[in-house]
Amino acid sequence: MKKVVKFGGSSLASAEQFIKVGNIIRADKERCFVVPSAPGKRFGEDTKVTDMLYACYSLAEAGHDFKKELQEIKDRYQEIIDGLHLELSLDKEFQVIEKNFKGKAGNNYAASRGEYLNGIVMAAYLGYDFIDAAEVIFFKENGEFDADLTNEVLSERLSHCKNAVVPGFYGSYADGRIKTFSRGGSDITGSIVAKAVKADVYENWTDVSGVLIADPHIIDNPEVIEVITYRELRELTYMGFMVFHEDAIFPVRQQGIPINIRNTNAPEDEGTWIVGSTCQKSKYVITGIAGKKGFCAINIEKDMMNSEIGFGRKILQSFEENGISFEHVPSGIDTMTVFVHQDEFMHKEQKVVAGIHRLAEPDSIDIESDLALIAVVGRGMKSTRGTAGRVFAALAHANINVKMIDQGSSELNIIIGVANEDFDAAIRAIYDIFVVTQL
Ligand code: ASP
Repeated sequence: MKKVVKFGGSSLASAEQFIKVGNIIRADKERCFVVPSAPGKRFGEDTKVTDMLYACYSLAEAGHDFKKELQEIKDRYQEIIDGLHLELSLDKEFQVIEKNFKGKAGNNYAASRGEYLNGIVMAAYLGYDFIDAAEVIFFKENGEFDADLTNEVLSERLSHCKNAVVPGFYGSYADGRIKTFSRGGSDITGSIVAKAVKADVYENWTDVSGVLIADPHIIDNPEVIEVITYRELRELTYMGFMVFHEDAIFPVRQQGIPINIRNTNAPEDEGTWIVGSTCQKSKYVITGIAGKKGFCAINIEKDMMNSEIGFGRKILQSFEENGISFEHVPSGIDTMTVFVHQDEFMHKEQKVVAGIHRLAEPDSIDIESDLALIAVVGRGMKSTRGTAGRVFAALAHANINVKMIDQGSSELNIIIGVANEDFDAAIRAIYDIFVVTQL
């Protein structure tokens, strides 16, 4: 068995955390490839090294002095190195970084140094090989990740290593320039490495004991999901679940490699398994609840709309022409509603409305703002009767007005639109009925 283990920033924020990570890795010989993030926050008000690097580089770019800020970053690493009693100096590395900052190497380069340096420290601590991600993870000139080239080079390189550390978050263009993934992108690197070595498991270590059924800011101590499918997780991440970078699912999904989300601070917990498919029923009918605030609904009415071929296309064309993507389009006989992100739509609203008038000649258009969308997700819904009924009964009991309902044809989720101000209460009501009371 081969395992790829990725550790997030909070798992590597201090020497103390590094020691926990070292113990986890040494406890299982199969944990042979390690992907670290940059050091994260040690306490609530602390700053992540990645953010320190962005701030430091913006000074450099503006031609200001950045010595103090760079020294603070160096101190963060030195504290870890000292706490681990390592014979390691990053002096040379920091000289190169300072020179490249002065030479305006770009903020992708700057941010990537967080993982790069942490990878060097981690490799020294574990006695593993260090592989610079710039040599094995590639981007195309248009900025897209080059999956084929990366897989070829990375799998060949790792086939010669028994144990290695590959820093997360970045790779390079053909000319050697550094490019990072979007924020939280070390998850993607972990997934890419798992694919390259054909790992049996991709363990993703963080500071929670798995994916929670609902947002802990809304529900006190929500339960952990034991098993979730890639598709369910994708629905939930799209709607605001933050545990795992959504693009990180694709590389392992192609190979059917399961992901195990684990807690560095509670390694005995089983965590959550993210799998392709499973015959395991989830403990409850629903697997998870997620949602987002800040949507607008544009209600369009026109008599006899139902018989006008092409009406829907004309409406959506106006959104397309203004570069706005839509979320949901529930429709009635003479009405059609388009849900969009309020912040994307707001400053283009009159243009879109004018476009709809021009293209589709509706009787009226009415805009409702400050709406929230909630996704109730669960593979168990397909085979259980009455799920929607229970959702709406719970919302009615909680005095919440439902503005929109949309059930995907996969029967994997039910999307509900409510007013922003009802968002938390709606999630609590749904969690209550399915998880707490389990009626
Ligand atoms: N360090 C990067 C960030 O803060 C990438 C990561 O941690 O995954 O976004």
